[in-house]
Amino acid sequence: MKKEAFTVGQTIESMCSVCEVDQKHVVRAVTKLGAITQAACEACETVTTFSRGAKTSVSVGKGKNASPYDRTRVYRKGQSMMHDKFGRGEVTAVVDSNKIDVLFGDQTRRMIHAQN
Ligand SMILES: [Zn+2]
Repeated sequence: MKKEAFTVGQTIESMCSVCEVDQKHVVRAVTKLGAITQAACEACETVTTFSRGAKTSVSVGKGKNASPYDRTRVYRKGQSMMHDKFGRGEVTAVVDSNKIDVLFGDQTRRMIHAQN
């Protein structure tokens, strides 16, 4: 079986254990043979570490560059966002299909999402 060689900075579609869907991941580190050893989810910044092709650890991102809050977007628990007033927040619960609870600093706010 021929293995694909990856390079750092490349984007791949991969299952994110935090987003619980396939997300774009940016390759952070590869072996000499081009196998991915570390990839970061673009949506939640979670870094997944691979060893011999198997997921070995996941560290949830504390990144500074969370995506701006977008009410049309569908958020999931654990995703982070940047709000222009409240700053960086993390989705702590999906209340229903249009409401989420987001923790900003030490305050949880109910936000809307999935608005068309
Ligand atoms: Zn993710």
